[in-house]
Amino acid sequence: MQKIDVVVVGGGIAGLTAAIYAAKAGKQTVVIEKQNRLGGRAISNKKKGAYFNLGAHALYKGDALATFRELGLSLQGKKPSAFAYGIWKGKLSPLPSDMKSLFTTPLLSWKGKMEFASCLTKLSKADTRPFDRISIRQWVEGNVRDPMVRHIFYSLLRTAGYVAGPDLPAAGPVLKQLQNALKGALYLDRGWGELIEELRKKASELGVRLLTNTKVSSVDTRGGIVRQVLCEDGTKIDTHHVILATSPAIANELVPFAEKTALHTWKEQAIEVTAACLDVALKRLPKPKQQFAYGIDQTVFLTNQSRAAYLSDDGAQVISLIKYQGKETNPDSDLHELEGVLDLMQPGWREQLIVKQYLPKMTVCHDFMHMKRLENPGPAVPEIQGLYVAGEWASHGEVLADAATASAKRAIQHMLSLEGKERNAFYEHRGII
Ligand SMILES: Cc1cc2nc3c(=O)[nH]c(=O)nc-3n(C[C@H](O)[C@H](O)[C@H](O)COP(=O)(O)OP(=O)(O)OC[C@H]3O[C@@H](n4cnc5c(N)ncnc54)[C@H](O)[C@@H]3O)c2cc1C
Repeated sequence: MQKIDVVVVGGGIAGLTAAIYAAKAGKQTVVIEKQNRLGGRAISNKKKGAYFNLGAHALYKGDALATFRELGLSLQGKKPSAFAYGIWKGKLSPLPSDMKSLFTTPLLSWKGKMEFASCLTKLSKADTRPFDRISIRQWVEGNVRDPMVRHIFYSLLRTAGYVAGPDLPAAGPVLKQLQNALKGALYLDRGWGELIEELRKKASELGVRLLTNTKVSSVDTRGGIVRQVLCEDGTKIDTHHVILATSPAIANELVPFAEKTALHTWKEQAIEVTAACLDVALKRLPKPKQQFAYGIDQTVFLTNQSRAAYLSDDGAQVISLIKYQGKETNPDSDLHELEGVLDLMQPGWREQLIVKQYLPKMTVCHDFMHMKRLENPGPAVPEIQGLYVAGEWASHGEVLADAATASAKRAIQHMLSLEGKERNAFYEHRGII
């Protein structure tokens, strides 16, 4: 194969976004994906007429949505109603989501209602960056007094950031994500697989070569310069720019002597976040009004995504449940807990069941901005010329898919800015500028 300008390893959201921006900048670009289809964790699977993501997925008003809009993706789907229940001591109560539910919810005292409304109003306008160096717990304890209002904030922030406990995540990024969520999340018709398909088409239109079923085995970086990408099937691609849009652990494996580079620090500091995901397609809802719930004293979440998006070809209701996991996980007890939540929200759901999908331990993110983080990963690997990272773990304050797109764009911008500097230096040297 001829020399390629940019090789992207990994065909998930980060890899595809990086490839599209590289191609838009006129670079000959190849994406190499080891699976037989693109998409990574953002694929959807169709089962008995129902579209299942790999667990509940919503697009917030953050970097990913702005990027996809900038690229001209159509992103069919709708915003769901915000009316939600809270699960507290095994019972359902309306959560304060508008004036009516705020005044009627039995979860809060009058004082609590006033404090909740005031905190949410303040938060919606706040600059969240000053909270990047404190934990969610520190933010909640420092800003909220009423114990039940605190519980509700913990629950909302857990759902925004996907991390079970409040001590690790830096508050700023998750508060920002909650602000974005409060503006209304988008549920996508036919799931996130459609988004991947739109990214794939865009990349193809721009001339990106997309290789699937091809596993990269290493990147040749002799002399501290990117030279070649080697694949397990023997494919070799000469290039000077590689974007590793894989996990930090895989990025480490692919680069010889990675332990002498920042890749090692980024792998060592990474804290993986996982969730158990149960998705069900039901013929009808036994309780049509109970479609959305946050666990308050349980680390769970339920949403009927088909209340806003087209997720079934025959009118089935597609409900997603999440159990936010800590260090210890147990597939059976997590499933039991999630089915218990369905029993509470949709009693009799088993008689309505068409098909289900249970994923006991999905990696939601390989890393995030947490209190033990030493540095934000990327965009460039400083020790190796031409080597970059992208992925939701390479966050500089964004969360999940927003971090995937933002890190991908950072990598391309960095690459282009270096080229600009080199060009300027060349012209300066020749006395042209
Ligand atoms: C349950 C769940 C719920 C989520 N909910 C949300 C949500 O509501 N909102 C949101 O914004 N985000 C959400 N996310 C996160 C979102 O799915 C991820 O942030 C995003 O898909 C990550 O994309 P990525 O490209 O960084 O990584 P990935 O999708 O993991 O892509 C990496 C790719 O690299 C490939 N690869 C690895 N090694 C090699 C190799 N050696 N050679 C070639 N290819 C290789 C992999 O096969 C994979 O396709 C959720 C995730 C999960 C699991």
